[in-house]
Amino acid sequence: MRLILLGAPGSGKGTIAEELTKQYGVVHISTGDIFRANIKEKTPLGTEAKQYMDRGELVPDSITIAMIGDRLAQPDCASAFMLDGFPRTIPQAEELDKLLADKGVSLDAVISVRISDDVIKTRVSDRRVCESCGASFSLSFRPTKVEGICDLCGGNVVQREDDKPETVLSRLKTYHEKTQPLTDFYQKKGLILSADNEVSYIQAIEQINKGFIARGIIRE
Ligand code: ADP
Ligand code: ZN
Repeated sequence: MRLILLGAPGSGKGTIAEELTKQYGVVHISTGDIFRANIKEKTPLGTEAKQYMDRGELVPDSITIAMIGDRLAQPDCASAFMLDGFPRTIPQAEELDKLLADKGVSLDAVISVRISDDVIKTRVSDRRVCESCGASFSLSFRPTKVEGICDLCGGNVVQREDDKPETVLSRLKTYHEKTQPLTDFYQKKGLILSADNEVSYIQAIEQINKGFIARGIIRE
């Protein structure tokens, strides 16, 4: 199965992706995670990406597209993958179309995670992440057992630089301007499967699985 997860920053895409990859064993490709890993390793790509990310802006399409092209060419993506955080602009989506057409494959669905900006602002300000393994926590919904320490690996749990309130506003603005038009782009292709994540991600996952069955992507 080949999937895209669309949704605003802080919409819970990451959590939904984690759950779906557990259920279906598909490779989870998060462009944000790849950029953050490069920043941590101080690679040239990381240094370049960091200046945009810290401001809540998008990394330029040319850089992002080249990176995802490399990643999708790896053997573990041959038959299934889930893209989380890519595409984020119309040009990225058009490039992805070309890439997939060259491989002779197509997308099964584009999951659109829906949630209001107000809920997002609260969730993002509550979000904490592990510096070592990337695990995500929430001060209100999923606190760490020991404050500031990752339950999974014992690493430091901190607030992401771009989760600070000023940056969240500019990320949301970028999202509405550049990424939201993708919903229409994929709607026209008949690929959109909506998931409401306003209440709980469990509910969103249920909706997604029903959508998969209705589309014949999985069997009941
Ligand atoms: P969120 O979805 O919560 O904003 P991500 O981890 O997906 O967080 O992305 C963090 C940052 O990484 C983005 O604000 C952006 O700067 C950069 N980024 C991630 N994916 C892309 C992309 N497809 N195109 C451009 N920039 C991206
Ligand atoms: Zn950890």
